[in-house]
Amino acid sequence: MAQEDIFKKLVAHCKEYGYVFQSSEIYDGLGAVYDYGQMGVELKNNIKKYWWDSMVKLHENVVGLDSAIFMHPTIWKASGHVDAFNDPLIDNKDSKKRYRADVLIEDQLAKYEEKMNKEVKKAAKRFGESFDEKQFRETNPRVLANQEKWNNLHTRFSDALNDNDLAELKKIIEDEGIVCPISGSRNWTDVRQFNLMFSTEMGSTAEGASKIFLRPETAQGIFVNYLNVQKTGRMKIPFGIAQIGKAFRNEIVARQFIFRMREFEQMEMQFFVRPGTELDWFEKWKTTRMKWHRALGFGDDNYRFHEHEKLAHYANAAVDVEYKFPFGFKEVEGIHSRTDFDLSQHEEYSGKKIRYYDPELGESYVPFVVETSIGVDRMFLQVVSASYCEDQLEKDTRVVLKLPPVLAPVKLAVMPLVKKDGLPEKAREIIDDLKFDFNCQYDEKDSIGKRYRRQDAIGTPFCVTVDHQTNEDNTVTIRYRDTMQQERVAIADLGKIIGEAVSYKGLFGRL
Ligand code: ATP
Repeated sequence: MAQEDIFKKLVAHCKEYGYVFQSSEIYDGLGAVYDYGQMGVELKNNIKKYWWDSMVKLHENVVGLDSAIFMHPTIWKASGHVDAFNDPLIDNKDSKKRYRADVLIEDQLAKYEEKMNKEVKKAAKRFGESFDEKQFRETNPRVLANQEKWNNLHTRFSDALNDNDLAELKKIIEDEGIVCPISGSRNWTDVRQFNLMFSTEMGSTAEGASKIFLRPETAQGIFVNYLNVQKTGRMKIPFGIAQIGKAFRNEIVARQFIFRMREFEQMEMQFFVRPGTELDWFEKWKTTRMKWHRALGFGDDNYRFHEHEKLAHYANAAVDVEYKFPFGFKEVEGIHSRTDFDLSQHEEYSGKKIRYYDPELGESYVPFVVETSIGVDRMFLQVVSASYCEDQLEKDTRVVLKLPPVLAPVKLAVMPLVKKDGLPEKAREIIDDLKFDFNCQYDEKDSIGKRYRRQDAIGTPFCVTVDHQTNEDNTVTIRYRDTMQQERVAIADLGKIIGEAVSYKGLFGRL
């Protein structure tokens, strides 16, 4: 099945099973805003716990924070967001659709990559075991031609971004013959800058009200609390502050479901280090974060690092962790070496000293910062994309979310075989015993087969069936989601079997 079809099915599946709903749906929805349903909220919380505990519990020198969304408006002046948090936008005059100019060009680069990969795949099939991919890429004329196009475009694109040359971005789009996916035409407007921050008014009267912004990142809440946390927590450099919270961006192009939203949640950690050591720490956090992603077991080859074409105004190194979504490799997380830019700016704008006295060096300095920044929603989409499977069985297909058990919203479903003979009561007893440790679901409706399918569809790793034998010997059948194998086990052992499979400790052991 084409990857796009799989993605469409995934979106429909998320709705049908209570994972993600369009916001304000009964009023025809609100663009790029989504709500999480009864299953979605559980998965989201589990993802957040995985991140939070891996940061705050596993690192002695990382502590948490929960800062307000509303902040003093000067913060956004100091951070550079008022002047520079822009995206280059372009409109197609025929379809009246708006696009991000940089995204159109990135898609074009991806097309060249795809062409090269197709050639490689075809050749690999033809030559079998003796295939030498490196040699093929270096010699095949079609691959070389596309590589040259890619290189040229990439250089032009990077230069245009770094020079903030909007006319050149438009020229690239024209020269590459990029068409609007809706109208198919090349009738483009000029490229313009568009600030992504939402603003609102704070204060009760129109005259007394002042314009404030909804934060476009959680990081600034950490920076402006740096001294509070450092002093009250007696933190010694290097140390980190972690935060999970909402962020808002008035995204121009809101496509691909929860990949790009206007209201979303971020998990950010700012790590404060001695100046001059930041690039070593940048490398360390790159390794740590990649391990965190790969520990979920979705296949190491599905992740890669991507160097930024253009460094943000505050960074001296930046890399993205990308995952192979059904629509290609895309960013899930950014790791940035932000230098001392933010703290120095806040020193200047607030007039307060933001320094660290380093007892080992006997001097004070503005710390440098390495940041790891990941979107909860994008991580959610990564997890469900990687977990969604259509298993071909002998007679039919089953749709199953092969979620890592530790992240699954429901850990076990308990099902009485029939609705009589004391089996429902027995099933309830099991739930009463386990519900403080695991999210359980009771299900007595329809045939056992149908009930299994329902649990597969929401990703429940264990189904426990209570039958007549249970009344005699206190054993049940446990059925494993991925293998569909069934086993007879003692009720008394359920807690241990499930506990081991869904423990965060087990997952952290892989970090
Ligand atoms: P992009 O290039 O995709 O716009 P970005 O480089 O601006 O993203 P950052 O500012 O580095 O993103 O934000 C860090 C993380 O926050 C991203 O890796 C992503 O997971 C998440 N994120 C950013 N913007 C959005 C959004 N509009 N919707 C959902 N998640 C987002």
